[in-house]
Amino acid sequence: GLIATSKCVAIVGTGVTGLSVARFLQGLQVRFAFFDTRVRPPNAELIAQEYPEIHCEFGRWDEDLLCSMDEVVVSPGVSLKQPQLVSAKERGVSLIGDIDLFVRYAKAPIIAITGSNAKSTVTTLVGDMAAQQGVHVAVGGNLGTPALDLLNESVELYVLELSSFQLETTTKLNAKVASVLNISPDHMDRYDSMQAYHAAKQRVYFGAEQVVVNRRDVLTHPPLSADAIVSGFGGSADFKNMGTQMRDGVLWLCDQLEPIMKVSELRIVGAHNVDNALAALAIGKAAGFERVAMLSALRNFEGLPHRCQWVMSVGGVGFIDDSKGTNVGATLAAINGLSQNDGKLVVMLGGIAKEANFSALLPALIEHARSIVVYGRDARILEESLCQFSKIKRVDTMLQACEQARLLAAPGDTVLLSPACASFDEFDNYVQRGEVFTRWVKEAANE
Ligand code: ADP
Repeated sequence: GLIATSKCVAIVGTGVTGLSVARFLQGLQVRFAFFDTRVRPPNAELIAQEYPEIHCEFGRWDEDLLCSMDEVVVSPGVSLKQPQLVSAKERGVSLIGDIDLFVRYAKAPIIAITGSNAKSTVTTLVGDMAAQQGVHVAVGGNLGTPALDLLNESVELYVLELSSFQLETTTKLNAKVASVLNISPDHMDRYDSMQAYHAAKQRVYFGAEQVVVNRRDVLTHPPLSADAIVSGFGGSADFKNMGTQMRDGVLWLCDQLEPIMKVSELRIVGAHNVDNALAALAIGKAAGFERVAMLSALRNFEGLPHRCQWVMSVGGVGFIDDSKGTNVGATLAAINGLSQNDGKLVVMLGGIAKEANFSALLPALIEHARSIVVYGRDARILEESLCQFSKIKRVDTMLQACEQARLLAAPGDTVLLSPACASFDEFDNYVQRGEVFTRWVKEAANE
């Protein structure tokens, strides 16, 4: 039993994370108040109903009030560069995140996974591996259930997916195993530089016992001073790492130099998913999982929805939903990963650009795409940065882009929705975007 104190905590941001912090603090009988810069923030009505006594500052804040709080829990959706937070910090207020609170109360070991892409896929796989072995595992964080809602005395292992925004406010994670899967530019609208984004991701290694790095991505390696045990994944197998090796024309996943499973047994497709399988194996091994359990989870894993997900074929043209491809790195992986197919790709790109550098897509598009369709709020930006590719068509909405893509595709081709952008101009989120796309494809098949 924790005793009610006179302590008072500010919750900044009223989204999914903010609500999880409120539930948690209420459980501890700690007083709190909500702060949000928006006049009508998300869940305002729900908060008024559930917490009628709680003080809310929506729109403009009373800065002195914020600074009088014992702790300020900042949601990942709120930038620490927000002037009110900068000045609170200058005045000595402690700014923390939900993960800091989580670490204080979690009694079981934590596996923490971050990266620009593949976080959800690898986190889910590692969770499946633990469950397969009979461990009572709780999986969540940036994906699915917020971390604080996972806390439970009976949990034996936590597997957390963490975003760079969550890590910015995390002081010491002390993970049993921590991994940065890969780093490529994303969210350049919220970071001053690649260095700042890189530094946020690397915070996942603070206090880690074991660190798992991507051998082919030096930005995922911890600083030399870190004294954790380091292992790696990706590339060709060697004495130390999880990699692949060709034997008699068959490609194998290998643990060090021992072949353990044929790549063809994986149900998730594309070269990027081979990396994801190797990453999960390396993380699972570092955590002490048994190999049989890990391999059985890998064999059963069908992938998550909206990640390079096959929808169906319409008039000889295949349709793939990679709505979760929300940055250039993800879309590149999807294009290169799916290019083993015979036909060419018609790639649909569009939405909110987040100040990305799309020209990095050009070599892959020139090699694998028949044409591209750009759409959404930042369609012009896409069109301009990809103008070296001549077969480019611009339309307004994603559904118009679907129609165009179908017209442009030849039999045997694949239409790939992998937008390289955020979805908020037309949709609530990437899930809704993927669902609208899938519905359109199914209706087109019935025409
Ligand atoms: P995250 O949770 O980091 O967004 P997901 O597992 O949901 O990652 O995958 C998001 C997208 O990232 C996928 O749809 C795919 O386009 C791309 N992707 C998946 N694995 C990789 C990888 N290993 N490297 C680069 N991109 C990847």
